[in-house]
Amino acid sequence: MIKNETNALYTANPARYENMPYQRCGNSGVQLPKISLGLWQNFGSYDSFENARELIHTAFDNGMTHFDLANNYGPIYGAAEITFGRILKQDLLPYRDELFISSKAGYDMWPGPYGDGGSRKYLVASCDQSLKRTGLDYFDVFYHHRMDAETPLEETMQALDYIVRSGRALYVGISNYPPEETKQGVKILKELGTPLLIHQPRYNMFDRWIEDGLTEILQNEGVGSIIFSPLAQGLLTNKYLHGIPKDSRAAKSEIIHLNKDHITSEKLARVKKLNDLAEKRGQSLAQMAIAWTLHNKAVTSCLIGASRKEQIVDSLQALENLFFAHTEISLINEILTD
Ligand code: NDP
Repeated sequence: MIKNETNALYTANPARYENMPYQRCGNSGVQLPKISLGLWQNFGSYDSFENARELIHTAFDNGMTHFDLANNYGPIYGAAEITFGRILKQDLLPYRDELFISSKAGYDMWPGPYGDGGSRKYLVASCDQSLKRTGLDYFDVFYHHRMDAETPLEETMQALDYIVRSGRALYVGISNYPPEETKQGVKILKELGTPLLIHQPRYNMFDRWIEDGLTEILQNEGVGSIIFSPLAQGLLTNKYLHGIPKDSRAAKSEIIHLNKDHITSEKLARVKKLNDLAEKRGQSLAQMAIAWTLHNKAVTSCLIGASRKEQIVDSLQALENLFFAHTEISLINEILTD
């Protein structure tokens, strides 16, 4: 047993690998859990540290070995990496080699011309800052967070290659890149000798853009994918069916990514029908929404968020029924498009 900073003891669940399926990421040697945890929300400076710690423990105790960060996750920017670093130091350092940890740079991070975009200057400096905040020696994967049309793609890919060669990360990824630029990025990275491990796009029943070309490229090129916001930030659950709960993401005014305007009556009507279908399958809507993303053969892992440990436990039960009958898939398509 490991004595940590607060004198509390954390020992990981010995049965943690019993129920989680792992899938090879593209053509690589790395396997990822079917469900991974992201730290975009609920790990910031204003969030409860003990709650954050419980989220990480619950995830790892259930075989979720992969944790996803970015330089700007908070608020404030950098805070999620600091929180994760504290939890790592207190509880998880003995398990470092069982963990697969990612971070990213690409969006606005610090003032001036070098704190945003896709330049080598920004990516390398940001990766160093992220390593410092987390206390890690290296990231398992380091991503460029979004395509930057102002920077030559070669420069960004060379920066990712350098990040690996200099020991800052083991693998590289890209996020939110459109199909054509993904294809070009794959080619450049292959030539550089650091193959692209993974793409991180948004994918859920309300946002299916990856089906329009991207997944085909990823499968052809042997690149894995980890999709984010499978629950459309909570909309694809039963929580908004009877109003906006006070403690929900949509009610938190500082969060601009999901607000009351996104929760339209048209969307809720679809959510209600999806919820009825989920009930018939014996699942919560959250579980069905997660299972639906994993039903796509190009998806290696589904990257969830959670504000409470009970949500992680609920979402993990998606793994108990990943099968969809043709009639169910047709009905879902009908509900989403009628
Ligand atoms: P989700 O779509 O999974 O939304 C998570 C939210 O849904 C939770 O905070 C909670 O909302 C609610 N929720 C979760 N589980 C349940 C459940 N079982 N029942 C009911 N409600 C539930 O994912 P996120 O949008 O949080 O994104 C996940 C991760 O993806 C991020 O942490 C980040 O790592 C990554 N990401 C990457 C981006 C990129 O550009 N690369 C962009 C965005 C995310 P509530 O707080 O209301 O309780």
